[in-house]
Amino acid sequence: MDNEKILTPAGKTDIASLYLSEIKELLSAAGEPAYRAGQIYQWIHEKRAASFDEMTNLPASLRRKLAETAWLPELTVAAHQISKADGTQKFAFGMHDGQIIESVFMPYKHGNSVCVSSQAGCRMGCHFCASTIGGLIRNLTASEILSQVYSIERITKERVSNVVVMGTGEPLDNFDQVVRFIRLVSDTGAGGISQRSISVSTCGLVPMIDRLAEEKLQITLALSLHAPEDALRRTMMPVANRYTIEETLAACDRYFDATGRRVSYEYALIAGVNDTPEMADRLIRLLAGRNCHVNLIPVNPVRERSYRRSSRVHSEEFKIRLEKSGINATIRRGMGADIDSACGQLRRRVQENA
Ligand code: SAH
Repeated sequence: MDNEKILTPAGKTDIASLYLSEIKELLSAAGEPAYRAGQIYQWIHEKRAASFDEMTNLPASLRRKLAETAWLPELTVAAHQISKADGTQKFAFGMHDGQIIESVFMPYKHGNSVCVSSQAGCRMGCHFCASTIGGLIRNLTASEILSQVYSIERITKERVSNVVVMGTGEPLDNFDQVVRFIRLVSDTGAGGISQRSISVSTCGLVPMIDRLAEEKLQITLALSLHAPEDALRRTMMPVANRYTIEETLAACDRYFDATGRRVSYEYALIAGVNDTPEMADRLIRLLAGRNCHVNLIPVNPVRERSYRRSSRVHSEEFKIRLEKSGINATIRRGMGADIDSACGQLRRRVQENA
């Protein structure tokens, strides 16, 4: 499978993934006045038009031409769950080719956050993750990632102020579209979400972390570490066979140096595997002297997997041990415990029932 190939129906132009400057070029090549580009961009991103027909200040001939040559992604709601416990809402969206992706809306006191998927499926193969079970189906376009945010704003009638690229997929395995998404979702004329309120999580594709640093975005990089030593990490994450922890942390340090943005380390707490005091001490030695943050996530049990989550007591002890050594740590609040909250579980269920 060609991972770089992005599919739009009938090979049409994915106009909602284009920057304003690119739409201008497209129109000028078609002999249309440049100001039409601004109007189209506004229809797509500010007015969130679902079709070219709605773009009523464009001449009918241009609307027709756009409908023939360009495409706007449309997400249908395949499943929608609302947690009674904490207001988390989970969405399974259907795409034009029948693929299902998952997105989550999380209301917080400081603003609403959305977790988006960057790929249909994933080829990274982390053993504790449900998203990778069926492998990678395809990359999402920037517009399909953006549509998750726009659709959720429309359905919930809530404004989204934070985005985490932590849904299904490895964002740095779909680098160009994810960077495009970040630029569009943070453009004041489009998504309008500050880059400082955007996090991208990676399992640790080292060369791509360096490429991301070159983009000089003000986003937070989150690194899925999950183990403080290579041997253990290799039993959990195939990517650990490609890059050592030392190489991976060095790339994160370069990211910090290039952007000034503190890196977050994610650590899924698995009972008896990586949650012992000894493991905490190893993690402390590993991260010593770094300006960073550790996000502890009691692992979500996945039906197909055998990992068990750490107890509340063990999780707390682990966190306190880190903090006593001067390492910032939080335990991620268990969002939506009463719905299919583990990564990729709702997507799998919707697919199974289809
Ligand atoms: N591919 C990216 C982003 C997607 S997953 C990455 O690997 O970072 C977002 C986070 O959830 C990652 O830290 C991932 O390791 C973690 N995760 C996956 N499955 C999980 C599970 N069952 N329980 C807890 N965390 C999980």
